[in-house]
Amino acid sequence: MKCPYCAYLESKVVDSRPADEGASIRRRRECLSCHKRFTTYEMMESLPLVVVKKDGSRQSFDRNKVMSGLIRACEKRPVSVNTLEELVTEIEQVLQNEMEREVSSAMIGELVMERLKKVDEVAYVRFASVYRQFKDINTFMQELNKLLEDRR
Ligand SMILES: [Zn+2]
Repeated sequence: MKCPYCAYLESKVVDSRPADEGASIRRRRECLSCHKRFTTYEMMESLPLVVVKKDGSRQSFDRNKVMSGLIRACEKRPVSVNTLEELVTEIEQVLQNEMEREVSSAMIGELVMERLKKVDEVAYVRFASVYRQFKDINTFMQELNKLLEDRR
């Protein structure tokens, strides 16, 4: 389990308890290098998830990929790595609960956007603009307007 602060690979578990009605285990860990604490959620049993991309190619689900997309979108925004970790874990759980071995990259994108919208609107618009590949300013404005309408 990599430390989110210094990326050191070893940590000790300081607390462990079931979460999500036993579907996962919540662990408090302490990094053996910088001694900061962080939380991880580990699945009790997880199916290998396969992501089907737009062009039909398949690759295994990689939470680090989702994470790096989120970190990019949240650059210079007041969003903690922990919040993002939790968001990705939640998405992973949603996908696991679907009990489908294959999920589309589009579905993952929608799940991310749905949640990111509540976390940080600027990050959401950034993520959406990369994800939906806004071709022009009009589609971008449409998305912004939708966001503003939702708020009312
Ligand atoms: Zn550390």
